[in-house]
Amino acid sequence: MSKPLTLAEISARLATASLDRPPPRVLAVSKTQPASAVRALALQGQRHFGENYVQEALAKQAELADLALSWHLIGPLQSNKCREVATHFDWLASLDRPKLVPLLARFRPADAAPLNVLVQVNIDDESSKSGCAPADAPPLCGLVAGEPRLNLRGLMAIPAPHPDRARRRDAFRRMRALFDELRARHPSMDTLSMGMSDDFELAAAEGATEVRIGSALFGARPPKA
Ligand SMILES: *Cc1c(COP(=O)(O)O)cnc(C)c1O
Repeated sequence: MSKPLTLAEISARLATASLDRPPPRVLAVSKTQPASAVRALALQGQRHFGENYVQEALAKQAELADLALSWHLIGPLQSNKCREVATHFDWLASLDRPKLVPLLARFRPADAAPLNVLVQVNIDDESSKSGCAPADAPPLCGLVAGEPRLNLRGLMAIPAPHPDRARRRDAFRRMRALFDELRARHPSMDTLSMGMSDDFELAAAEGATEVRIGSALFGARPPKA
């Protein structure tokens, strides 16, 4: 794989790709990376970090408690992890079913800000991917919006890694259209999270407000322990 990019290089590419829109925020995906790598990036000004595995994230958070970071869970969430996620994360980017909503709301500590929530949409209808069907996103967003301990912030998607870029672009476009439609109903929605190392410029061009970048920033991932 090619050499990792610096934060400045990624920002420059995003600025160019975003055309007339404000460039998306970078979520640094630190899964399987050591806490030292997170710290190094934090010292360069990176604040938002995405993790896939709850236990791994909690260990890193403990090691980095001296830094003011914002932690996002981007991996699939099981109901038996709702308490830990509601207690220790700032964002959940992968809400995909109604059952989790009351659990997250109940476990969010009263002295914390409401948990920021993105509804994950399975935009290419892949059986292997988590996320709700596009048609299920509106009721799920409505459910989140009705919980005072949750803050409905937007949508997240992982389009199929289709080799044809036009197909991926089309998935990003469909996500942006769904986001605009839902945002008209829910003004708290300001985040459309889509695009990864391989296609963040394409996602920015189609109106992502957040891109999730792992390997392009940290280099190839060490295997999961
Ligand atoms: C791992 C992961 C990423 C980052 O992937 P890269 O291709 O390394 O940038 C982004 N989003 C999710 C949900 C992930 O699991």
